[in-house]
Amino acid sequence: MIPLKTQRAVLECLRFEELVDLTARLVRINSVWDPEAGSSEEEAARLVARWAGDQGFEVTLEEVVPGRPNVVVRLRFSDGPRKLIFEGHTDVVTPGDPSQWRYDPFGARVVGRRMYGRGTNDTKGNLAAMLLAMAALKRSGISLKGEVIGAVLCDEEGLMIGVQDFIRRGHADGVTGAIICEPQDGIICCAQKGALRARYRVKGKMGHGAMPLTALNPLPALARLIHELRRLEWEAVEAAGRDPWLGWPSFTPTVVRAPSRGPGQLNVIPSEGELLVDIRTLPDQSHPSIAARLQELAAEVCAATVEDYQQSDNHMGVSRPYPLEVSLEILTDRPATRTDLNDPLVQCVDWATRRITGKEPVYGGVPGATDGTYLWSWKGIPIVTIGAGDRDIPHQVDEWVDLDQLMDTARIYALSALAYLLGE
Ligand SMILES: [Zn+2]
Repeated sequence: MIPLKTQRAVLECLRFEELVDLTARLVRINSVWDPEAGSSEEEAARLVARWAGDQGFEVTLEEVVPGRPNVVVRLRFSDGPRKLIFEGHTDVVTPGDPSQWRYDPFGARVVGRRMYGRGTNDTKGNLAAMLLAMAALKRSGISLKGEVIGAVLCDEEGLMIGVQDFIRRGHADGVTGAIICEPQDGIICCAQKGALRARYRVKGKMGHGAMPLTALNPLPALARLIHELRRLEWEAVEAAGRDPWLGWPSFTPTVVRAPSRGPGQLNVIPSEGELLVDIRTLPDQSHPSIAARLQELAAEVCAATVEDYQQSDNHMGVSRPYPLEVSLEILTDRPATRTDLNDPLVQCVDWATRRITGKEPVYGGVPGATDGTYLWSWKGIPIVTIGAGDRDIPHQVDEWVDLDQLMDTARIYALSALAYLLGE
């Protein structure tokens, strides 16, 4: 049990006005990665670096690619076995058409107990909360063991080059736990769905729509792939079942295109078509075996389509010695994650959540991937994703965050880190 005096010493160093101010300053910076429009994470990263420097933290700004830096904020205590990461990203997604917004997407307008703007929810509010939680630990002067690292990363909404760079530079070495600061409405998320995304390409032979026997149409193979993927999805649903936090696995064809490039024409059989598939997995599903199954499917569909064509060609006395090719390319492979509920980090977040909200914590899962996916899969770091903000709001117009929930989140972050580094 952590003495109340110690808890209070940390909580008293957290100030609501400071949290609102830092969130607002971050939100007012347009940090959409848009090289054509000239916006990037750079200005937001520099603001964080300046702010953290003023607080007396050890700060490094690291260029991942030109104009897209990460910021690493360190709080070192005396030597200890635990090293905790707080991770938050500086990039936001496009606001879309600003006229669709009730308030300026980069205005950080406060109305009642809410702040509106792109990033208030995902995830600049939570980023400010984690930085202030680190500052509160520092200001309290309590002697702890180990280290807290603030990972303020770029490109979470894109290919996640920020976290990959952070890991490659060794910042995650020896880290024993990470809190991923994303809008999960205060839910303690210990599991995340995996993503396996792939492209099928079918090559046939181009020809005239009036003379299909002089061509080899790739479209029937695409149709067969879509049909068979539905069957694979059903098999996965039966085999994996429903995860109480993550729901069901899914195999979703999202884009079908033929011809693969250029305009299609009604009387032209295209030479090539493609199909994009977005597969979302549960922690017990093996990505290598799914990838192997997708590969087999390419061969099966190719053979079945060729056989089908040959049967009708034989019947009609036609010979079409053209090859049909069905190939597969894996575009994204991010495994699902599951952190053991007995992990000390989960226990600390659980305790802090009870302490601050006075309620039984709710557990859940994250439907999409986050930077935490890489910390978990590349470094085996136990991750907990938690933060303020309605879970359905990210990427919508009129994005907002409840400022009281945000303040509670900063408190939960601070007490979680306190408990973790006290080892209780
Ligand atoms: Zn996010």
